[in-house]
Amino acid sequence: MSVVKISKKTATSGPTDSTNPFEAMIERLNEAARVIKLDENVYQVMKNPSRQIVVSLPIQMDDGSIRVFEGYRIIHSTALGPSKGGIRYSMDVNPEEVKALAAWMTFKCAIAGIPYGGAKGGITCDPRSMSKGELERLTRAYTAAMSDIFGVDKDIPAPDMNTGPQEMAWIVDEYSKIKGGFTPGIVTGKPLFLGGSLGRVEATGRGVVVSALQAMEKLKLDPKKCTAVVQGFGNVGSITALHFQQAGLKVIGISDHTGAFYNEKGIDLQKAVAHRDKHKGVLKGFKGGKLITNEQLLTLKADVLAPCAMENQIRAATNADKIKAKLIVEGANGPTTARADEILTKKGITVVPDVLANGGGVTVSYFEWVQNRTGYYYREDEINKRADNWMKKAFDNVWETAQKHKVSLRIAAYIVALEKVEKAIKARGSY
Ligand code: GLU
Repeated sequence: MSVVKISKKTATSGPTDSTNPFEAMIERLNEAARVIKLDENVYQVMKNPSRQIVVSLPIQMDDGSIRVFEGYRIIHSTALGPSKGGIRYSMDVNPEEVKALAAWMTFKCAIAGIPYGGAKGGITCDPRSMSKGELERLTRAYTAAMSDIFGVDKDIPAPDMNTGPQEMAWIVDEYSKIKGGFTPGIVTGKPLFLGGSLGRVEATGRGVVVSALQAMEKLKLDPKKCTAVVQGFGNVGSITALHFQQAGLKVIGISDHTGAFYNEKGIDLQKAVAHRDKHKGVLKGFKGGKLITNEQLLTLKADVLAPCAMENQIRAATNADKIKAKLIVEGANGPTTARADEILTKKGITVVPDVLANGGGVTVSYFEWVQNRTGYYYREDEINKRADNWMKKAFDNVWETAQKHKVSLRIAAYIVALEKVEKAIKARGSY
């Protein structure tokens, strides 16, 4: 068996501060591969996404003009099962980002212990400047273009940044029309009345907090004496903040793309949610805290920091050395660069990595898919209990792996995933 040889340059110069998410993923993959002396053949398979689809989607806008949008679906791996992963709508969507996000889904599903591979999709667009009708046409066009890629046993999309139950409902409808049969299991994160699962909307944020509490127990931090800062107030960020509060932490800072807010006495989160829901989904104008910058938010003196917004928020070039939290729990995918990881580790800060921390979402997606296939639907408390237990098991597994190899939780998480995927790749064989 030949093992991965990491080039001298990589070995001596250490991790980079690259904000290219695919490079950031590869750097961690290299590190984990080096630690476990991963088989070179498996490494090559894991390094390269198995399928990349790019489509042009001409859409009629409300003013009668046609605009052409670029859509992607990248399948990283199907070694452990059908590929799974969300679809995001953002101007930042690009092939390198989607490739990285697809690989992270492979790792995430393997770490969570669910029988899926990994994929991700996206459309480069600014959903906030589009009408509901335009978004519906775009979603339907994307579904039609991907109708032979998606499949209940092939590739199952879900929500991600700026997509939610409504987009999933359009996907079910369009796919069902094209294939001629109602197929709710084609996508997860659906509205409840279309076969969605109880607990799915809250699942990611809930899992972030479950993994944070697991880490706090290990670090001997009492939640009732701890403060938290949450970056991002979308589905993941707001639910994370609310669950932190329920667990006894005082949430002193929150933010979204319109502003960041600090209140040393604790933010009234119910008020923040009500404000957001009344003001087109944004916190702008929220009066429950002092307006601060995003930079100030991330470097606030708090015990726990949960970046739940987007990639590359913690970087060596900007803020890694100024972070004061004892624990970082990554609700977002890819918020920390590889070099920032190194700085955080040196500072003694524990990072619960994205591929572990935000796995609660895809775990309940799996439960949704199982419910669609069996036709039996669980109560919310049953779903939450199962999801919490799966998260705890995943956390313990990664924690033990980190102890065994004396590596960070991130590298341990990659190791857990690589060891599982390696077995599947080898057992299935190749041409
Ligand atoms: N988009 C979510 C993630 O990044 C959920 C994916 C899914 O449920 O398939 O984990």
